[in-house]
Amino acid sequence: MVGSGIAGLHTAWRASQHGEVLVLTKRTLFDSATAYAQGGIAAALGAGDSPELHRKDTLAAGAALCDREAVEVLVEEGPARVRELQLAGAAFDLGDDGLLKLGREAAHSRRRIVHAHGDRTGAEVARTLVERVQASQKTSVLESARVLELIVEQGRCAGVRASVLGQPVEIRADATVLATGGCGQVYRYTTNPVVATGDGYAIAHRAGATLADMEFVQFHPTALATPENPLVLVSEAVRGEGAVLRNASGERFMAKKHRLADLAPRDVVAREIYREQRRSGAVVLDATSLGKSFATRFPGIFALCQARGIDPRTEPIPVTPAAHYMMGGIVTDLAGRSSLPSLFACGELARTGVHGANRLASNSLLEGLVFAERIARELASEGRFEAPRRPAPFSVPPLADRGAAQVAADTIRRVMWDNAGIDRDAKGLRSCLKQLAGVRERLSPGMTEEANMCDTARMIVAGALARRESRGGHFRSDFPRPRADWRGRHVEF
Ligand SMILES: Cc1cc2nc3c(=O)[nH]c(=O)nc-3n(C[C@H](O)[C@H](O)[C@H](O)COP(=O)(O)OP(=O)(O)OC[C@H]3O[C@@H](n4cnc5c(N)ncnc54)[C@H](O)[C@@H]3O)c2cc1C
Repeated sequence: MVGSGIAGLHTAWRASQHGEVLVLTKRTLFDSATAYAQGGIAAALGAGDSPELHRKDTLAAGAALCDREAVEVLVEEGPARVRELQLAGAAFDLGDDGLLKLGREAAHSRRRIVHAHGDRTGAEVARTLVERVQASQKTSVLESARVLELIVEQGRCAGVRASVLGQPVEIRADATVLATGGCGQVYRYTTNPVVATGDGYAIAHRAGATLADMEFVQFHPTALATPENPLVLVSEAVRGEGAVLRNASGERFMAKKHRLADLAPRDVVAREIYREQRRSGAVVLDATSLGKSFATRFPGIFALCQARGIDPRTEPIPVTPAAHYMMGGIVTDLAGRSSLPSLFACGELARTGVHGANRLASNSLLEGLVFAERIARELASEGRFEAPRRPAPFSVPPLADRGAAQVAADTIRRVMWDNAGIDRDAKGLRSCLKQLAGVRERLSPGMTEEANMCDTARMIVAGALARRESRGGHFRSDFPRPRADWRGRHVEF
């Protein structure tokens, strides 16, 4: 099991009920995008809601690129997975009636977002699952264990090669599950934690597994505009509760752009903010109408703003779009199997087909839960699996010069933001590929993380160049509309 976000931890917990599991994670068990998640988990649990309505909203956001069967699985099995997580100890917010309190987010036709401690859902989910994993007698954990490559023998994945506390270790396993999360760190502005360098995409691609839809990156419209990495996310739920976007002249601009105004789909809002920034300068999120309730409904965001000298109860919050989520990834079937035998993929890294060209808010934690469970069941059905065998040392390249590695990472991030971000065209994408190739050539052998960033970035750019249309999260100013001949087609790697 590689990765300790919702996908990795949930798979480990459930799979350990049938066999022995080893979890490897790059830093600590708590370092993941999962721990950062704010808004919550979408599931059709409220009165007047149904999996059918959730299915419709998910398909509409996906812009004709979703896999219908995968969406069906997501919305049908989602409510049971959320209930199980609650039973496992997740303290989701409840109303006075003792029922789950459900929030509303962009492009959802119903209130269906389960949340914890207001806007600290991810931390609560991570805490619950880490406890389950630590309580399991059948699970061992290796922290500071960075997987470098997959072992492929006789056409199947036989385990991984990793650097564990700087030592090279080879680990052989009956089945390998990659759940290394997203790749937001290939962009200059991102909400993703520093571990999200896209390792899993690059590693799986090098091993011959099929990937698809890499051009579909979701840019979150509202991150706090500060000079930090990662940027602090200001959840959509804030707009769901009534906050509005304003340009430098104080005007609300979204009402003129989309019938759902400030709650239009993420790609629409992100693009309009990006344009507005170029036209009029800074964009702000005005949440002053929430008054004092801001601090109680969004305690996490409130504390993060206050720490940066902003009081959202009385003043507008400066915001910018930022790379947030990768819709594409390792192509998997409904049991999480990749095209490479004995290799499974789960969570943000997988392309299950539930998001299509654009992810509906709060569907990713749900995807992690639902497909992790399916992988655990698949592993159980394949028979008992034994403790992974280790360690057989292999040689790793010498450690890289950190200063030079940082320069390479900064270049990748800048080049990607400027040319393969919210607004793309053929000229910029071609120049981006060239610049990335230059960076890749100059990397020293020890810069393994930067090499993964480069390789993942190149798939994003190549996908974006190939797709000569705009759809969902992928927008090209030289092909600004969806095209019928691209409907339902995927760019594969
Ligand atoms: C700020 C923020 C807010 C969000 N809010 C929401 C929300 O409200 N609702 C929602 O549904 N989604 C939300 N998302 C998206 C969601 O959090 C992620 O898509 C989801 O948590 C991904 O889970 P995961 O298990 O696939 O990956 P992650 O949680 O990112 O975990 C990946 C793990 O893999 C490890 N790893 C990476 N590379 C290696 C390697 N080479 N070797 C070993 N380990 C490795 C990492 O250290 C990490 O432990 C949010 C994301 C962010 C960044």
